Amino acid sequence: MFELQGAKSRSVLISGASIAGPTLAYWLDRYGFDVTVVERADTIRSGGYPVDVRGTAIDVVERMGLLPQLRSAHIDTRKLTFVDAGGHPIATIAPEEMAGGVTGRHVELPRGELTSLLVDLTRDRKVRTRFSESIAALHDDGAGVDVRFSSGAQQRFDLVIGADGLHSNTRALVFGPEAPFNRYLGFCFNLFSLPNDLGLAHEAVVYAEPGRAAGVYAVGDSHTLLGFLNFCTDEPPFHSHADIDEQRQRTADIFSHAGWEVPRLVAAMLRADDLYFDTVSQIHMPRWSSGRVALAGDAAHAPSFLSGQGTSLALVGAYVLAGELVAHPDPMDAFAAYETIARPFMEANQALALRKGRSLLMPRTQDELDARNAALAAMQASGRTPSRAEQAGEVHNALRLPDYSRWLHEGHRR
Ligand SMILES: Cc1cc2nc3c(=O)[nH]c(=O)nc-3n(C[C@H](O)[C@H](O)[C@H](O)COP(=O)(O)OP(=O)(O)OC[C@H]3O[C@@H](n4cnc5c(N)ncnc54)[C@H](O)[C@@H]3O)c2cc1C
Repeated sequence: MFELQGAKSRSVLISGASIAGPTLAYWLDRYGFDVTVVERADTIRSGGYPVDVRGTAIDVVERMGLLPQLRSAHIDTRKLTFVDAGGHPIATIAPEEMAGGVTGRHVELPRGELTSLLVDLTRDRKVRTRFSESIAALHDDGAGVDVRFSSGAQQRFDLVIGADGLHSNTRALVFGPEAPFNRYLGFCFNLFSLPNDLGLAHEAVVYAEPGRAAGVYAVGDSHTLLGFLNFCTDEPPFHSHADIDEQRQRTADIFSHAGWEVPRLVAAMLRADDLYFDTVSQIHMPRWSSGRVALAGDAAHAPSFLSGQGTSLALVGAYVLAGELVAHPDPMDAFAAYETIARPFMEANQALALRKGRSLLMPRTQDELDARNAALAAMQASGRTPSRAEQAGEVHNALRLPDYSRWLHEGHRR
């Protein structure tokens, strides 16, 4: 039987403390592993853009005892309005009509708040979380992994898990550059905050022209709005991340002479101190592990925000990975089982982004825009959840979570 039943536990290093990282840390600690988390940022930031927890992921947070706190933090977005250049509504729909889901099995909250809740769960446990720290180099010799950190510290671990996001550092160190795994979906986004001068609450407003889309998101009744400026480009500007001023100017040029409130959004983007620019991409990997190193969350299977499922997938994947690690004496068997169980679910949810999000949020041509407007008008007129959203609801719930509770020995409950 597995050595955790004795006094000695396996040491695990997790890179990244957002969604997948703290979820893994929580479960591994509860199964008796010795857990260290390193996070590049200097602290957990509250707020941020809203993320969704739905379907199977609701079961994960319920098993962590977090569902009541998540329900209290629910931001309750009530409507999505698509407008024309003059600001006149084309259609107003309920968010679930677009994303799908089952009533009562969906919570939406700022990402920072979810991270804080997850990290808080590990605070009075044995998990060590080190901020402003990152893996600089690692060497897997088959019996363990020697890690050198950016601080210069060195330590040996039994296992290393990369939960460090779409541009995972751990993945780069073990699997090489991102490009072969990054499936670019044809557009880029800029996200930033601006004052809520429009008096919006619990809603989002979206404006699109062929190849460019702009909008604002009112999270609850906040005094600030989240603005976005998205544009299509066939060649992904991967290298422009490095020069944020170049990126600001490029976005401003692309959105010149656009209608609606776009000039105001461009002005806010140009002066924002929290501008977040990235390509809209998925991660597809032939394997999620190599030797004693595995990946979880966006690092392994990012679905892009078009799916609205990245957070739920990170929660589910972390739960399954931790459970399979305690259930198998050999971590290689655990990593294989983790993929067997989780991969079909991840891939089905990744496919949602291609099916639904792109044409609604980012029409590329006038024909696509006309088709989108007709579909929105029909959706509003019928008041019915379209079959696309119903199908999405099935995919969100497609995995039945394994039960690992037998591994939660009393001795491991602290
Ligand atoms: C604009 C936007 C909108 C989104 N909207 C939604 C939505 O509506 N619904 C939804 O479900 N999902 C949404 N997502 C996706 C969601 O945020 C991700 O899928 C989810 O956060 C993945 O969690 P993760 O823990 O795998 O990775 P991440 O949340 O990306 O976290 C990675 C962590 O690793 C840390 N890190 C990075 N590099 C290093 C390093 N070298 N060393 C140590 N730490 C490191 C980062 O600081 C971060 O804390 C959206 C994403 C974006 C960008």
